Amino acid sequence: MPDSWHHFALRSFVKRQTGLPVVIENDANAAALGEHLYGAGRGYHDLVYLTISTGIGGGIIADDALAHRRGEAGHVTVVPDGALCGCGARGCLEAECSGTAIGRRARRYLQAGRASKLREMVSDTELVTAKTVADAVREGDELACTVWRETIRLMAVGIGSIVALLVPQAVILGGGVAAGAGELLLQPLREELQQRVHIVSMNSFKILQAGLGADSGLYGALALGSRA
Ligand SMILES: [Zn+2]
Repeated sequence: MPDSWHHFALRSFVKRQTGLPVVIENDANAAALGEHLYGAGRGYHDLVYLTISTGIGGGIIADDALAHRRGEAGHVTVVPDGALCGCGARGCLEAECSGTAIGRRARRYLQAGRASKLREMVSDTELVTAKTVADAVREGDELACTVWRETIRLMAVGIGSIVALLVPQAVILGGGVAAGAGELLLQPLREELQQRVHIVSMNSFKILQAGLGADSGLYGALALGSRA
């Protein structure tokens, strides 16, 4: 095995080891293709898939084809000079709206002394995650609702920019946070987008939950592999 993955010819290495055709694809791109062919994206020619989990990844389908190398939707800026992102920039959609960011936002409020049911839901406030926050939102906890609203507002800023630029017929949300929250996330997100996006009619695109759960990427990989 290599000492470093930089400039390592992975595809030819695996091909040599297995004797099989090999395709390499980004996980969010594979998930976008999986949803397009087999999931919630069936019938849409142009769509954006976003996986909202520990980070935020994105894949784009344009004219029924996977748009490779079109950039990373998770790294559009939603807060100038906001939280430091893994990419090195500040205030990216990923840095402000991922599951990691939701947990961090809640913990910051708790450390500032705000009252919340969240304190009773975990043994240590450091253990508050996006799931804990979503559970507390369902119970009507005021602090959790504030965190949720702030996150959705920023998410709508990012998705609104993506929609204005790419004019997709559907934006499909997958990943652990979207799967766990479902309409708790989608419905207020639609309302926020309605307020923010004017260049494209809300009637012309849908905000949908991924149809294949955690397997979107596997279905996409299957399609890519069968074409190899
Ligand atoms: Zn970034």
